[in-house]
Amino acid sequence: MAPHLQDEVYASSLKDPEAFWARQAAQLHWHKKPSRSLNKTTKKLKSGVSHPHWSWFPDGEISTTYNCVDRHVKAGNGDSTAIIWDSPVSNNKERYTYKELLEEVETLAGVLREEGVQKGDVVLVYMPMIPAALFALLAIARLGAIHAVVFGGFSPPALAQRMEACKAKAIMTASCGIEGAKGASSYQPLIERAVDKSSHKPQRIIVWQRDQLRWDPIKKDRGERNWQRLVKSAKNRGLKADAVPVKSNDGLYIIYTSGTTGLPKGVLREAGGHAVGLNFSIKYTFGIHGPGDVMFCASDIGWVVGHSYIVYAPLLAGATTILFEGKPVGTPDAGTFWRIIEEYKVNTMFTAPTALRAIRRDDGDNDFFEERGRRGGLKTLRALFLAGERSEPSIVQMYQHLLEKHCADGAIVIDNWWSSESGSPISGLALTPAAGKDFSTKQRDQPPRMKPGSAGKPMPGFDVRVVDDDGNERKPGSLGNMVLGIPLAPTGMTTLWEDDERFYKGYLKRFDGKWIDTGDAGMIDQDGYVHIMSRSDDIINVAAHRFSTGAIEQAITSHPEIAECAVVGIPDSLKGHLPFAFISLQTHHHEHAAVPDDALFKEVQKAVREQIGAIASLGGMIQGKGMIPKTRSGKTLRRVLRELLENAVHGEFEKEVQVPTTIEDADVVEVARKQIKEYFKTKGGLHKATETRAKL
Ligand code: AMP
Repeated sequence: MAPHLQDEVYASSLKDPEAFWARQAAQLHWHKKPSRSLNKTTKKLKSGVSHPHWSWFPDGEISTTYNCVDRHVKAGNGDSTAIIWDSPVSNNKERYTYKELLEEVETLAGVLREEGVQKGDVVLVYMPMIPAALFALLAIARLGAIHAVVFGGFSPPALAQRMEACKAKAIMTASCGIEGAKGASSYQPLIERAVDKSSHKPQRIIVWQRDQLRWDPIKKDRGERNWQRLVKSAKNRGLKADAVPVKSNDGLYIIYTSGTTGLPKGVLREAGGHAVGLNFSIKYTFGIHGPGDVMFCASDIGWVVGHSYIVYAPLLAGATTILFEGKPVGTPDAGTFWRIIEEYKVNTMFTAPTALRAIRRDDGDNDFFEERGRRGGLKTLRALFLAGERSEPSIVQMYQHLLEKHCADGAIVIDNWWSSESGSPISGLALTPAAGKDFSTKQRDQPPRMKPGSAGKPMPGFDVRVVDDDGNERKPGSLGNMVLGIPLAPTGMTTLWEDDERFYKGYLKRFDGKWIDTGDAGMIDQDGYVHIMSRSDDIINVAAHRFSTGAIEQAITSHPEIAECAVVGIPDSLKGHLPFAFISLQTHHHEHAAVPDDALFKEVQKAVREQIGAIASLGGMIQGKGMIPKTRSGKTLRRVLRELLENAVHGEFEKEVQVPTTIEDADVVEVARKQIKEYFKTKGGLHKATETRAKL
């Protein structure tokens, strides 16, 4: 493939990071301009270990909120729309201009200061997807305090664990969340139980009262306060707070990773690098440049994707962000996303592949998309970004086809790879690569080139490599550990909250400080495209051959009847491990037998053998509806399925399995348990399945 402008920009970011990021930093307002971009250092830990480290814009001082809000009002864009809230679950729609946003944020910051929040304090945010949540984040940052968002609705133990870990001075919350069609669910008992459980007690609990379900009573003696009342009183008194700058390397927020075992890791995001890196990525990668551009990120503010592309990045650019309180399906139907694109003239959309799979299940023929598309309603859409887990080529191709038919000229599906740790895409495709050289451009000088099944190419500042277990680089096209060179791009973490040791142990130790381990397995192909195949833990070793669950899943979902699948490794006396599949069919409208039709199994087996190789033949396949457990951010919890299956092998069908608190719906585990049990009863055990494999 001939070189692309994106390749050129990437190379220049690694060759001279100092100059590259200085140019991006100049786009923002600094209370104190940094004299240099990058400082490479060595960090010495208490344990005596030293490792290479770095800091971005070390002597700069900045206010992220000032850059997201005040700067645009001062530049004369106060009347452009900052936030559009669309909430099908509460039947509400609201709009805020930048001027209105400024008033809300400076007032709320005044309130927080009166309630005792100071620079450097941590404030925990436990909110549904309502505008007040965004005001909260920006108000906390305005005071130079640090926010730690915990997904609204997380269980009391998960919440207590995070409250304790970050020693939250205050909690900002709401009386209830509204989860899809299930209706309002009160946050009050969850917060109260978490506070009781936590050894650290926050001084204040500031509650946004929602009409659907109120927090009652507000117990002042427990530090509880009515949010709206405090704001009303502040407005009457004209109480406001100016933006407080912080050092570039001070924390803006802490975000806890999905962590399936042990204590969650508190990734620390630094103020300066975050603002510079996001302001760059929203223009360069996402093609959102400023007033008039509309970004719709259908994530949740509880996730890093939501932090970056619902809240900070679109606001840094001065564009419009859509805050959506609803689900891809069921609020009220599988056409909601497409309605939003049409109604608000969305230019860039971002969601997780799991959302598209849910839509495909409910609207197999894409009637909702086609209908709006035919009447020209989706013409503003330039790109559909997908991240959070691997997107199988079948779903990418289906949407690429729809975009070409109905959306803007050259519209494209972009799978992009990233993590809480990276803060922005590590790989992907740039919609306006010229922005990497010249910020004044909006032109799509060179259209991005996609490759279904890959998550694009490395993004500026991320030195992406594939290495073997000894840290040696692998040849293009070979599977290995995905690692990153030091430093990470400016949005990347530089440590874990108050835990430098764990940062070293979790990310650097494995490769002796040479590389940062992402925990993902994948490859870079001959053309430089990155393919993320699975978590390193999900690699299956079959007769000394390493396979990724992602590659096998991809082969299985190439079968037209299969909507979704998860592959796990099961122990096998002969081969060490065998891949085993859990599938759900496109046509599951009622419950299905756990054992699939012989014909279907044979076809799937054939696809796996053809696309991966005979050695990867499946040890068996269970079918069922609603049995693949997911986290709330849409990641498949393969470990849970593996544990259930391993227990079943030992006849322990009812044995408890470790279910992470981040699970979307714990009932799914019980459905999986039931299907596994039925499969074992019908087949007389797992070995029968293995025999089937041998015969094929
Ligand atoms: P989180 O920190 O919760 O955002 O999870 C990050 C993890 O999600 C990554 O380490 C990957 O395992 C996975 N992930 C994110 N984006 C992609 C993608 N585009 N393709 C494959 N895996 C992805």
